[in-house]
Amino acid sequence: MLSFDAVLRQRLDAIRGRGLLRELRRVDSPQGPRIQAGGQTLLNFSSNDYLGLANDPWLKEAAISGVEKFGAGAGASRLICGSLTPHHELEEALAGFKGTEAALSFSSGYATAVGAICALLGRDDIIILDKLVHACIVDAARLSGAKIRVFAHNDLDDLEEKLKWANRRDEQCGSRTSTTLASKPRITRPSEGKQRTLVVTESIFSMDGDTAPLRGMVALKEKYGAWLMVDEAHATGLYGKHRRGLAEELGVSGQIEIQMGTLGKALGASGGYISGSRALIDFLVNCARSFIFSTAPVPAAAVAARAAIEFVQSAEGEIRRKTLWTRVGQFQSAIGHRPPPIPGAIFPILIGDEARAVEAAAELREQNIFVPAIRYPTVARGQARLRVTLTAAHSSEDISRLVRALNSVDIGFRR
Ligand SMILES: *Cc1c(COP(=O)(O)O)cnc(C)c1O
Repeated sequence: MLSFDAVLRQRLDAIRGRGLLRELRRVDSPQGPRIQAGGQTLLNFSSNDYLGLANDPWLKEAAISGVEKFGAGAGASRLICGSLTPHHELEEALAGFKGTEAALSFSSGYATAVGAICALLGRDDIIILDKLVHACIVDAARLSGAKIRVFAHNDLDDLEEKLKWANRRDEQCGSRTSTTLASKPRITRPSEGKQRTLVVTESIFSMDGDTAPLRGMVALKEKYGAWLMVDEAHATGLYGKHRRGLAEELGVSGQIEIQMGTLGKALGASGGYISGSRALIDFLVNCARSFIFSTAPVPAAAVAARAAIEFVQSAEGEIRRKTLWTRVGQFQSAIGHRPPPIPGAIFPILIGDEARAVEAAAELREQNIFVPAIRYPTVARGQARLRVTLTAAHSSEDISRLVRALNSVDIGFRR
């Protein structure tokens, strides 16, 4: 045992030596614009609770009613006896919200990506990823066994190159013989003798806050006969006439085979989802292993998520969204940014050096402002940054305090 710990301590020392050691920060209060941590009250610019729903009475009451009616735990996986009314009601609400035939919820966004991608693709297939997609998509791609290609971030020309390569490869391997097929046994589905290509992107990028060119991506995937999966983790509840996400805002929801999102960011609850055709959802119920072999989410989470879906579609939800964009506009004008055509609540402040980013975050904390330093492996080495996120729960004075604090720290922030 001792030598086991010694090995791990050595590894930890190496991580520390590179300025990359991470430690948990205990928060002693609910999520919100002000949090208690380490005996300090911090003005919090780090959460993804964009609409301030995580600690909202509407969601809390929903969660409590979920516990009262359905208990604390689901007791089993969905396919055994854990598929409770709240899960079904959530999925009906999700499908209605997203305007798709059906939807399926998962215990987390991470489990959603892994379950869906590994169900849809196998070793004969190709997956083409934006360079900056979330780790859960990268892990899913690796686990699926599909051949992975990466295109430069938001670069449609590079995506087209990768799609052309995929089609050439399909022509070369197209007439696979039955012996080749037999030598590659499938885990979840029989081989179709046909290569499938899946393109995956995020709609609003989690660490950069920019938007994917979804219209161009849809045109390309149609031209080359590929499938498209879009992760709307940071867009669900925020964009489009019905708050469905960026795909709705850009008018392409109907052309995306696999729409993914999470329930734990703007929706303030917990979990992930896929929305799409009935066939897609039926297929995932049968083949998504992270869905099948996992206890169903606690009923309270499903009830809270459904309440959040109602909330974002309500008039009150629209007021909350407008408040968010007002705060975003205030921050942008204070830092001399011209507002982009599509607003976003994520602001990366690139620093580069890992140790300097950590130092800058510590300096802000001394002023009772919490902005996290984001480092490798969340972003590439040498791309460390402060990541500011704004929420509808921040006041105008909170934004002014943030701007003053950022200007006082030597990070080349003032333009
Ligand atoms: C947060 C996030 C996920 C993971 O969702 P969880 O519910 O936190 O597991 C997936 N994709 C993106 C882009 C994310 O930002």
